[in-house]
Amino acid sequence: MPLSEEQLAKNFADIAPPLTNDAALVDANKCLFCHDAPCTIACPTHIDVPAFIKKIASGNLRGSARVILDANPFGHSCARACPVEVLCEGACVLNDRDEQPIKIALLQRHATDYVLEHKLRLFQPGPSTGKRVAVVGAGPAGLSSRPA
Ligand code: SF4
Repeated sequence: MPLSEEQLAKNFADIAPPLTNDAALVDANKCLFCHDAPCTIACPTHIDVPAFIKKIASGNLRGSARVILDANPFGHSCARACPVEVLCEGACVLNDRDEQPIKIALLQRHATDYVLEHKLRLFQPGPSTGKRVAVVGAGPAGLSSRPA
């Protein structure tokens, strides 16, 4: 028997709801913008976490998303799927003060949702070099790798 629309909506609803703009501003302003940024070191794609959070704190969501997506083209998906409790949020220094870590994933989602919802194009292709490339595997690792 097919599921009702109500059940389908429930099954596909977000487990963690997105942050409101005010909640994102409050959390972004709790960040200490650590110089050594253990959150960035813990991120497999080394997103500059304090840089993107600082841009959210100053209302620059477009710039924030650019920092995220420049390091990780899958930043929008990773904001939802990464095991942040053992990566960036697990490394946040606020844990050492028995405080809640910065909501890095939800902030990342806040910025990347903004550019998608507003259909903003952040990057332009460079001039053609006449060369061709092949992505071996074509999975997330291959697609988000930079040429050496
Ligand atoms: S470790 Fe926590 S407080 Fe420090 S920059 Fe990263 S998110 Fe901000």
